Amino acid sequence: MIERQRTDYRGQMTEKSNKSAQAFAEACNCLPGGVNSPVRAFGGVDIGPVFVAGAKGSKIHDIDGNEYIDYVGSWGPMILGHAHPEVLKAIGAAVEKGTSFGAPTLAETALAKKIIAAFDSIEKVRLVSSGTEAVMTAIRLARAYTPKKYGRFANRPYIIKMAGCYHGHSDSLLVAAGSGLAEGAIASSGGVPDSIAKLTVVIPYNDIEAAKAAFGTHKGKIAAVLVEPVAANMGVVPPVEGYLQTLRNLCDQDDSLLIFDEVITGFRLALGGAQELFGVKADITCLGKIIGGGLPAAALGGRADIMDMLAPTGPVYQAGTLSGNPIATAAANATLDILTKEDCYRRLESSAAMLEAGLADAAKEAGIAVTINRVGSIMSCFFTEREVRNFADVQSTNIKRFKRFFAEMLEQGIYLAPSAYEAMFVSLAHSKADIEKTIEAAKSCFRKIKSEK
Ligand code: PMP
Repeated sequence: MIERQRTDYRGQMTEKSNKSAQAFAEACNCLPGGVNSPVRAFGGVDIGPVFVAGAKGSKIHDIDGNEYIDYVGSWGPMILGHAHPEVLKAIGAAVEKGTSFGAPTLAETALAKKIIAAFDSIEKVRLVSSGTEAVMTAIRLARAYTPKKYGRFANRPYIIKMAGCYHGHSDSLLVAAGSGLAEGAIASSGGVPDSIAKLTVVIPYNDIEAAKAAFGTHKGKIAAVLVEPVAANMGVVPPVEGYLQTLRNLCDQDDSLLIFDEVITGFRLALGGAQELFGVKADITCLGKIIGGGLPAAALGGRADIMDMLAPTGPVYQAGTLSGNPIATAAANATLDILTKEDCYRRLESSAAMLEAGLADAAKEAGIAVTINRVGSIMSCFFTEREVRNFADVQSTNIKRFKRFFAEMLEQGIYLAPSAYEAMFVSLAHSKADIEKTIEAAKSCFRKIKSEK
């Protein structure tokens, strides 16, 4: 049994994390669980969280003065690295002009044009403030939309969702598979009524037969299939060959809409997200994270006939006090400009490929079984010798080992996502030296883990 190096929930403390430990104890008195989003409490790794003082480039610093190479990147937005000078400059210039108007600005149209240029499937865009809002609105749109041949409203209540995909915390999506396709899902969070949960049908990711069966059971009643085209909230799980195209075909055959949640993958895997990479078009695309440039902004976009269903042109209501906020929009425009101009995606691919190869070699050398799933600059290192293709596969990996790996890497100055069910994000700020240091750290962590019983 290895002694914990940091404060854990039982109050063990080390000098290295004294201030974080105290800060967490204090935060717990006034914030539920000490945090404003659950995963930040480090509950998935059994140690106390690091309190961040600031970040620059590929590094974050905690309030105890420790520095880490950061592979969380605020859970995806920081593709350029932290505090990128051009983004900071754009934010500064926007702040000078006022922080919120609740009225249209030129910058919002400029941002919408950039999104439309990047995605073949998008003709119009609505800006919102979070990924949750984007997906919630996409579902409402899908339920209201119906091709002309069916008359005004479709009366299609069902949404298909894949187990292990996360789409924010709206009621319809905090659900788990129920006892059978006909019954729909059951709530996976307190406060979600069964009557709402059962309108979502949860099937395994990458399971083409299950998708066909769901369309058979609910023929003519499915408003949309909602999917992360590359799953990245159960760790990274790529779609199997033909999966996305099959979902596209099933939706077309039944006049349902295909919603791609590209909150993580949009502008991450390519400018045009997973749709560009896999050549399959969605009817509605949800975006977030990167398009906020580190500030709260998200969007949904799609064909004009669908998007024009939104108020004020159409009957589907949606609104937001801070939607298209000028500071967030400025950060977004600056971020997308950089991603559009430079050779970003090739550089991201080469850094991430180097990291993947280094981690795989390090694990092999130590005799630790791992499966590394990677698509572009997102990846996961699962502690298993088996392929990982869906949520059940992820659940059967060695989570205990992941916890040990996380804690050891943190001690060595490498900040990974504090959960076995999350991705690693490589940014343009990660240098060759950062990647080499990470691989060296992983070598010693794997060796240490191997030596433990
Ligand atoms: N969809 C996906 C794929 C996500 O990863 C997330 C957030 N992790 C969301 C939606 C929700 O976004 P937000 O946290 O901005 O509400």
